[in-house]
Amino acid sequence: MQKATSQILSALNTNNKKIIFTSGATEANNTAIYGICNKYLSDKKHIITTSIEHPSVLNCFKDLEKQGFEVTYLPVDKSGVINIVDLEQAIKHNTVFVSIMWVNNIVGTIMPIKEIIEVVKKHPRIKLHVDCVQGLGKIKNDFNFNDIDLITISGHKIEGLKGSGALILNNNIMLEPFVKGGHQQNNMRAGTVDLAGILGLTVAVKEVLKKQPDNYTYVSNLYHYLVNNLSGLNYLELNRNNEHYSPYILSITFKNIKAETVMHYLESFDIYVGIGSACNEKTKTVDPILEYMQNKTLAINTIRVSISKHNTKEEVDLLISKIKEIGEK
Ligand code: PLP
Repeated sequence: MQKATSQILSALNTNNKKIIFTSGATEANNTAIYGICNKYLSDKKHIITTSIEHPSVLNCFKDLEKQGFEVTYLPVDKSGVINIVDLEQAIKHNTVFVSIMWVNNIVGTIMPIKEIIEVVKKHPRIKLHVDCVQGLGKIKNDFNFNDIDLITISGHKIEGLKGSGALILNNNIMLEPFVKGGHQQNNMRAGTVDLAGILGLTVAVKEVLKKQPDNYTYVSNLYHYLVNNLSGLNYLELNRNNEHYSPYILSITFKNIKAETVMHYLESFDIYVGIGSACNEKTKTVDPILEYMQNKTLAINTIRVSISKHNTKEEVDLLISKIKEIGEK
C-alpha cells in the first residue's frame, strides 16, 4: 500500500500529499466534503459548489444545507461551464470549502480549474476539492495537482477495478472520518483496505497517464469526425462547448424523439449510449443536471455518447448512420 501510494503520487507529480483509498469516487467525494465540513458543524459556514456536480457531490451539499450550512450553487452557461467572476463574487468572509469538478460527466465540458485555483489561493482558509474522475488520464491538466487540496479519482473510469478509488489530499489536512470504525488509514477511513483494488488502481493511474497524449489524439479524431457529421442536422442539437470540452463525452438532444426511443433503436445495432432520463409515463424522472441546463422536455430527449480508445471509426460510422436513420424517419 505504501508503494502504491508513492507510485500514484509520483505519477501525478505531487509532493506533500497523502492518499485515502476508498471504494470509489462516490466515497472519496463524501469523505472530502464531510471530512472538511463536519469540522464546522457547530458554527455552520459558507460552502460553494456548482449546479452540475455529480450526485455524489451535489447530494452531500444539499444534505449540509439542510443541516444549516449556507451553500452557493454556482450557475453554468448553456454549455455547462461556470463563470470565474461568479466564483470570485460568491466567496464570503466565512467561506471554508469549494468543490468543483474538472470535467462534467453528462455534457463533457471542462471547468476552468487553473483560474479556480488562482481565485481560491487568495483565501488560505478555503480548502479546494476537485472531482477529477472524468478528467484524469483523459485530458491534459493545464494546472498543477499540487495546487488542489483534495483530489477525487475513480478506478473504473480508467480501467481499474470497479469499486476502487481514492482521495488524494495535502499532508497537513486531517479529515473527520466519514466511514467510522477502526484506526485504518490514519483514522481517516475505517475498514480493512481492498489491497487488490488499490494495486489495480495504481497500475491504472500510471498507464492512463502515460498513454494520455496518444489516447487523446485518437479519441479526439473520432469525436471530431462524429461532431462534424452530426452538426447541422435539423432534428438534433449538440450540447457542447466549442473550446472547453472533453472528446470522451458527447451529449446530443433530439428535438422530437425521446432519448429512450433512440437508446433502444441503437441498442438493436449493439450501440450502447447513456440517457439521463427514466421517462416512463408515470415518473418522467430526468437527470437533474440536464433538467437544470435545459428543461424537462429537452432533457428527456438527450442521449450521452461515450467514446473510448477502444472504439473504431467503423463503429462511429455505424452510430452516425443509425442516428440519421432514426432522425429522418
Ligand atoms: N464523479 C464523477 C464526475 C463521475 O462521473 C462518477 C461516476 O460516474 C463519480 C463521481 C462516482 O464514481 P464511482 O462510480 O467511482 O463512485
